[in-house]
Amino acid sequence: MGEQEESSVRPPARPTAARSLERLPAVDAVLQTSAARELVREFGRTSVTEWTRLAIEELRQSLLSGEETLDRAALEERALESIADLAERRRRSRLDRVINATGVLLHTNLGRAPLAERAVIALERAARATAVEMDLPAGERRSRGHEVEGLFRSLTGAEACLVVNNCAAATLLAFSSLARGREVVVSRGQLIEIGGAYRLPDVFAMSGAVLREVGTTNRTRLGDYAAAIGPETAALLRVHPSNFRVVGFTESVPIRPMVELAHAKGIVAIDDLGSGCLVDLSGFGLPEEPVVGESLAAGADLVLFSGDKLLGGPQCGVLLGNAWAVARCRDSALARALRVDKLTLAALEATLEIHLAGNALREIPILRQLTCAEEAVRTRALGIVKTSQAMGAAAAMEVCPDFSAVGGGSLPTAQLPTWVVAIETASCSAEEIARRLRTGRPPIVARVQDGRVLLDPRTIFEDEEPLVARAIAELEKST
Ligand SMILES: *Cc1c(COP(=O)(O)O)cnc(C)c1O
Repeated sequence: MGEQEESSVRPPARPTAARSLERLPAVDAVLQTSAARELVREFGRTSVTEWTRLAIEELRQSLLSGEETLDRAALEERALESIADLAERRRRSRLDRVINATGVLLHTNLGRAPLAERAVIALERAARATAVEMDLPAGERRSRGHEVEGLFRSLTGAEACLVVNNCAAATLLAFSSLARGREVVVSRGQLIEIGGAYRLPDVFAMSGAVLREVGTTNRTRLGDYAAAIGPETAALLRVHPSNFRVVGFTESVPIRPMVELAHAKGIVAIDDLGSGCLVDLSGFGLPEEPVVGESLAAGADLVLFSGDKLLGGPQCGVLLGNAWAVARCRDSALARALRVDKLTLAALEATLEIHLAGNALREIPILRQLTCAEEAVRTRALGIVKTSQAMGAAAAMEVCPDFSAVGGGSLPTAQLPTWVVAIETASCSAEEIARRLRTGRPPIVARVQDGRVLLDPRTIFEDEEPLVARAIAELEKST
C-alpha cells in the first residue's frame, strides 16, 4: 500500500481520548453482574465497589494511552478478572494455616509456639459463652484465671498466679506494682532487648520504677547487688539472658543467693525467666534452661515468663509467686489493661493440663519437635521425597544434614541436628521456588540457604507432609 493511496482513502481518525472512553464499563454495570454480586455476598458492597473502581481506573488509563482495542463487553470481562484477583488477594491475606518448614521451632513471624491439638479444641469450645468469671455451681462471680492458677500451683508449687498479655506486660506490671518510684537493682549483663520494641530500660521508664544498674557486662557479683541496696530499693531483678549468651570471663549470681540477700534486706526478688520452661530438657542434649519450679523453690517472690515459648501455649505472660506479690500486681489498675481473654485462658488451661498429665513431650508440638530424634526426622524427609516423586515431581531433591533452631528468643546456642529436603529445579531460582511455596495453598514457608531451598520436617506436622510433597510436585512435573 503506497503513501498516496493511504492518504486518499483516509484512515479513520485515531479516536480521541474522550471517544475511546465511551467503551469504559460503568461501575454499576460491573456490580450488577452475577460474578460481582457473588463477591459482594462474601466481602460486602464497600470492598467490591472499591475494587471495581480500581479495576475501571486501570482500564481508563489503558484506554487513554490509546493502545486498548477491546470492546466494552471484553473490557467488562477484564474488569471482572481484576476484581476476582483482588478478592483472591484478600482471601490469601487472612490469618490462615501456614506450614512452617523453616526448621525454626518458635518462629516469631509465624506466631511462635503452635498449639497442642487439645488446646485448639479448648479454644473452639470457649469461643461462645464460657464461665471465664463465673463459679457455675454457686452462680457467683469468680476471678478470671482461677482454674489456670490452680494448675500452675500444682505444676510449680507457686502460691498464686496472674496471666497477662505477654511477658513484656508481665515485667511492666511487676515493676509498676512493686517498685513504682523506687529502685530495682539489675546486672549490666542482663539489660536485654527482645526484638525491636522490647528493651528493658524502656520498660522501666514506662513502669515508673527506677533502673539501678550494677556490675559489668560480663561479671556481676553478689556484693555488687548488696552495695546498691538502700532505702529507695524495692527489688532485685534477675533477667535470664534467654536470647544471647556471654561466654568467657563471666560471673553472674544464681537466683537463690539473690533471693536470700533480698529477703535479708526486706525487699523482693523478681526472676524474669522469659522462656518459661516447665520441663527439664537437659536429658535431650539441649543447653541448660532454668526451670520455673526451681526459681520458685529458691524463694523468688515473682517469676515471669512467656506462655508461647517453651511452655508451648498461647501468647501470654505469666506471673507466678507468693500470694502477696501477685495480689499487688492483680490490684493494679494496669492489670485490667493487660488482662487476657477467655480464648487465651482456655488454650493455656488445656496446655497446662497436658503438662500436668505428664504428656507434654508427646502432645505439645514445640516440645515434641525439640526432642524429636535426628533419625526420625531423616525418615520423614525421605518419606516426603518419595511421596513427592510418586506424585510426579521433577524437581531435584536431596536429603541432607543440617541444623534446626529453637528461635523465639529461646536456647540461642542450641544446635539441633536435623535432616532437610533440599530442592532445586531446572527453571527457577531458589528465591522463586521459595516464593511459589509461600504463595501456594496452604502457604509453605521454607528456608533459602546457599542458593537452595531447604524444607525441615522437624517443624512440619506429620499430617502436613502430603501437602508439602504435593507442593514440591507442582513446582515442576516430570512428563
Ligand atoms: C521473651 C522474653 C521477654 C518478652 O516476652 P514476650 O512474651 O515476647 O513479651 C521478656 N523477658 C525475657 C527474658 C524473654 O526471654
